[in-house]
Amino acid sequence: MNDIVENLRKVESTLLEGVKLVAVTKTHSVQEINTAIDAGVTDIGENKVQEILDKYDHVKPVRWHMIGHLQRNKVKYIIDKVCLIHSVDSLRLAQEIDRRAAQHNLVMDILLQVSPAHEESKFGVPIEDTETLLRDILRECPHVRVCGLMCVAPFAEDPKDVKMYFDMVKAQYDELGKIQAENLDFRYLSMGMSHDYQVAMEAGSNMVRVGSAIFGKRVY
Ligand SMILES: *Cc1c(COP(=O)(O)O)cnc(C)c1O
Repeated sequence: MNDIVENLRKVESTLLEGVKLVAVTKTHSVQEINTAIDAGVTDIGENKVQEILDKYDHVKPVRWHMIGHLQRNKVKYIIDKVCLIHSVDSLRLAQEIDRRAAQHNLVMDILLQVSPAHEESKFGVPIEDTETLLRDILRECPHVRVCGLMCVAPFAEDPKDVKMYFDMVKAQYDELGKIQAENLDFRYLSMGMSHDYQVAMEAGSNMVRVGSAIFGKRVY
């Protein structure tokens, strides 16, 4: 448990100015998560709806982020629990979020997940289709506020090898952020995980999702 606090301080000391840390808590216990919260973590990320539901009532007050692939039929379980959904990659998913948000009389903050490397196994919208998806969502989903982009870079032994992907997403973020719309408020560029967040920050990320560098290796 002490390790968590020590690791957290190390990660914090490497964050560039203005970068928000989302501590990724998937597979980790409520006790470990509360240790991190006591040490100052304000935002946590989970990638499975079921894990959010299992932990939600036992974790101290914190901002929850949904960072993993989200099935439409599960949106209803988390719509009133998370502050930001990072992983929107289709109009149909955005429409379901919109519908559930309307029922709860709220506006849900989302990011569009971009897949810059054209990996078939990965989720995310191809970078060249992002603007069309964004414009469709802005037109059809008034209870959704699009706050930026997210990406998961392909794994590379040397994270410098994926900097070009982060650069591509940053360029797209800057471009799309110029669009004027009521429900567009580009503030978050969510890029970078434990092994590549330093490179992602150099490329302009302002939100990093860091798990194992804080909590240690995950045991599934
Ligand atoms: C697990 C996960 C992370 C954190 O990964 P680490 O390598 O443990 O830092 C970040 N983003 C997403 C989408 C994840 O699923």
